[in-house]
Amino acid sequence: MAVQGHRSSDAGLRLETRLAVLGRGGSEPGRPLNVPIIPASNFRAAPDGGAGREYSRDDGTPGWEALEELVGDLEGGPAVAFSSGMAAIAAVLELLPVGARVVAPRDSYTGLRALLADGAAAGGRWQVRTADMTDAEALAAAVADSDLVWLETPSNPLLDVVDIAEVATAARAAGALVAVDNTFATPLLQNPLSLGADFVVHSATKSIGGHSDLLLGLVVCRRDEDRARLSRRREVAGATPGALEAFLALRGARTLAVRLRQEQETAGELARRLAAHPAVGRVRYPGLPDDPNHTRAAEQMRGFGTVLSFELADAGTADAVCAALRVISHATSLGGVESTIERRAKLPGQEHVPAGLLRLSVGCEHVEDLWTDLHTALEAPAAEAPAASTVRSTVPAGSHP
Ligand SMILES: *Cc1c(COP(=O)(O)O)cnc(C)c1O
Repeated sequence: MAVQGHRSSDAGLRLETRLAVLGRGGSEPGRPLNVPIIPASNFRAAPDGGAGREYSRDDGTPGWEALEELVGDLEGGPAVAFSSGMAAIAAVLELLPVGARVVAPRDSYTGLRALLADGAAAGGRWQVRTADMTDAEALAAAVADSDLVWLETPSNPLLDVVDIAEVATAARAAGALVAVDNTFATPLLQNPLSLGADFVVHSATKSIGGHSDLLLGLVVCRRDEDRARLSRRREVAGATPGALEAFLALRGARTLAVRLRQEQETAGELARRLAAHPAVGRVRYPGLPDDPNHTRAAEQMRGFGTVLSFELADAGTADAVCAALRVISHATSLGGVESTIERRAKLPGQEHVPAGLLRLSVGCEHVEDLWTDLHTALEAPAAEAPAASTVRSTVPAGSHP
């Protein structure tokens, strides 16, 4: 089965359109509109012993390739899909020689921090330094003698925004590679390769999949030879996407633009209302005009994203609010059609995160229902936390997702 590669001829189409039309597997009459789920480990060999698709782990599957075609097109480079966002991150880091010097951001996803720490502890697989990437001086000093600069922008969970082009320029001068975790921005809000990055990583588990029903990751690279190295990495380390997961991720991606539009508008409104609430301290959302990241984000991104964080007095108050919510799910992860909230400082490796900080991933619910839920929970005193079930809810019993 011939699978289309990177279709640069579609570059003239807008992102929303490309989400709908790419990754269809061909246009011959009689073909299904969607690449079917193909639960195959192996394929029939070529009669002449020639090269062909023989084994999924080595040669890929049409389902993965359809997703790679779409995300690669949106980001502007060849893409390789992995079994999870962490597998994608690990594959990039495994391209580095032993002892390579990695600069990591002060705030980033817990999994990246754990992976880097484990590798540094295991006989110096890599040497890790953290830097405040929003501080130009600190960054310049850190980048000066490094092999890879890892960025996450906006970052999880503090919503730090880093100037990718500025970092890429400094990194190139120092001979370092740049990788950007673009999970929060999605390919619709920012494209790091066009700003000088060498690798873009996505946890498609989040907004690309969009329905909290799969794990999958992708790396998009600037150079074809890096695609080959990453495919090789997937082949030998075996972190392959599942057939169902690839299908679901592509299906989810079809609606990314409309979900994002709705979620982002709601996130902006909730951020404004939370910032004005007397029980709420600092609200972190790059869309707020007085957020320290606002100007940078407005220049670099096509929107401000669907995740925000806000601080409450302490851990107890924050936990009580999570317990009192009825529409917003108290759950980890983000990017789903349903809003989720979590107190991140409870996780290991998040000592830099304020104890009372809640990360809110805004879903597709009506903004007024989300606000009523938040507002009601914020009014519930922390002392009532164990009796959360007594908190009045405007949602009929049984409708909690
Ligand atoms: C969730 C997440 C990851 C990890 O992705 P998985 O699919 O869970 O492995 C990486 N980076 C960011 C920013 C994330 O939010």
